[in-house]
Amino acid sequence: ALAYFNGKIIGIDEPVIPIDERGHQFGDGVYEVIRFYQGKPFMMKEHLERLYKSAKAIKLEIGKEQEELETIMLQLVEKSGLADADLYMQATRGIAPRNHLFPTCPASISITVKPARELSQDVRTQGVKVALLPDERWQNCYIKSLNLLPNILAKQEAFEQGCFEAVLVREGIITEGSSTNVFIVKEGRVQTAPLSNHILAGITRMAVKEVAEELKVPFIEKSFTPEELFQADEVFLTSTTSEVLAVTNADDCQIGDGRPGSLTMQLHKGFRQKTR
Ligand code: PLP
Repeated sequence: ALAYFNGKIIGIDEPVIPIDERGHQFGDGVYEVIRFYQGKPFMMKEHLERLYKSAKAIKLEIGKEQEELETIMLQLVEKSGLADADLYMQATRGIAPRNHLFPTCPASISITVKPARELSQDVRTQGVKVALLPDERWQNCYIKSLNLLPNILAKQEAFEQGCFEAVLVREGIITEGSSTNVFIVKEGRVQTAPLSNHILAGITRMAVKEVAEELKVPFIEKSFTPEELFQADEVFLTSTTSEVLAVTNADDCQIGDGRPGSLTMQLHKGFRQKTR
C-alpha cells in the first residue's frame, strides 16, 4: 500500500495533513473510489467524469486536467505493485486558515492505494442482511461529497442490528444504501431508483445496466417502496467494492427463498466479465 499527497508519494502511515486543511476541518471536498483488476482500472473515465462533476457542483477547482490526474493514479497503482487494488482519491479546497468562505489556495489532492478488499466467499454465497433506516442526508446526494456523517451513522446502526448495509428511505421510497445502490427483481425485471439529486449515480449501477441490456433483461429506473422490496423475488446492492451483492433479508423479512437470486448471480457474473 502507498499514498500520495499534493505531488509527493508517501508511506500509507505518514502524517501529512496540516491542521488547517479543509477536508480535515470541514469535509470540504469530493472523492472517488476506483477498483483496479489485474493492474487495470475499471471504468476510470466514468469515475473521473463523476469526480469533475462533483467538484463543479461544489465550485471546487481541482487544478489538474482529467488526463493528468489519471496519469498520477495509474502511476501510483503501478508503483504499488498491486494487481487488484482499491484506489481512494479526494480533492479538497486546500490548506488555509479556518474560515467558512472559500480560500484562494490550490486544491489538495490525497490518494491511497491498497490491496482490493474482497468480500468473503461466505458473504457472496449466502447474501447479506440489510436494515431500512431513514435517509437523513441533504438534497444533493448526487455529489460524492466527503461529508458522510449521515451515511456513517446509518451504516453503524445497521451493523448494530446485525446487518451489512443500511437501505435508506426518504418520504416512503427507497433511495439507495449508505454506500451502495439498491435494486429489486420482480418477475424477471430489474428495478432501481432513477437518477436524481437523491442518489449517487453509481458506476457499478451503470455497468449493471449495461449487463442487463446485454442479457436482454428489462431494466427499469423507477422508485420503489419498502413494501415492494419486501415482496421482491430478489434484492441486490451494487458498489465498486461490493460489485453485485445479493440481499437475502431486510428488516428480518426473508427475500425470495432466502438465498441469492439467480438473476442477481447472473448479473454479477456478467459484471465480473466486464472487469477482465
Ligand atoms: N451510493 C452511495 C451513497 C455511495 O457512497 C456509493 C459508493 O461508495 C454508491 C452508491 C455506489 O457507487 P459506485 O458503484 O460508483 O461505487
